[in-house]
Amino acid sequence: MKILLVEDEKKVASFIQRGLEEERYQVDVAHDGPTGASLAVSESYDAIILDIQLPGMDGLEVLRSLRGRGITTPVLMLTVRDSVEDKVTALDSGGDDYLTKPFAFAELLARLRALIRRGQQRSAEDRLEAFGISMDLRTHRVTRDGEAVELTGKEYALLELFLRHPGQVLTRTMISEQIWGYHFDSFTNVIDVYVNYLRKKLDQNGRPRLIHTVRGVGYVLRREEAEK
Ligand code: CA
Repeated sequence: MKILLVEDEKKVASFIQRGLEEERYQVDVAHDGPTGASLAVSESYDAIILDIQLPGMDGLEVLRSLRGRGITTPVLMLTVRDSVEDKVTALDSGGDDYLTKPFAFAELLARLRALIRRGQQRSAEDRLEAFGISMDLRTHRVTRDGEAVELTGKEYALLELFLRHPGQVLTRTMISEQIWGYHFDSFTNVIDVYVNYLRKKLDQNGRPRLIHTVRGVGYVLRREEAEK
């Protein structure tokens, strides 16, 4: 098991590193955000332990950039601030779990094990399906009602996001952060354009629309029987 630890406080970092190595984990350590982000992209890890307050690029920025590049490695966030907003932000940014400093090493270990287990289950999954759409995560083949749908890279990423949250309203902020890795207000147009491309391809041959606009909020993937 290989772990990336991104923590700028050297004492904390070496305490965690030593503890994990005693548990036979292989640990790479980065002491700032940009180094952590580039290691996470270039190497393959079973989990990432990511401090929120980091020099260069904070933990949330690192996380958004990874998720934006489609890196789904489970991430355990470390925070000193025990505020509800921080936890929510950490989880909304694509973190899988968080731990507030100071913590007991045994708890870190337990959380990490649970995270790796969930990550393994997730990577074993090879297909997403909803409302007649099927996406093969290995071959990237997409079908609707059995008919192949050819998508570009961004359209595929967008559809994958919808398929992972069927029936749930996705805000433009969520979409831009998940697909493009950052959020700009001027980006909402781009999202609308891509959603329209995706709709055109999915709704061929008079099939009912599945991606619906939720005015002022975003989009949702669902079947609406009344709307044909
Ligand atoms: Ca820190």
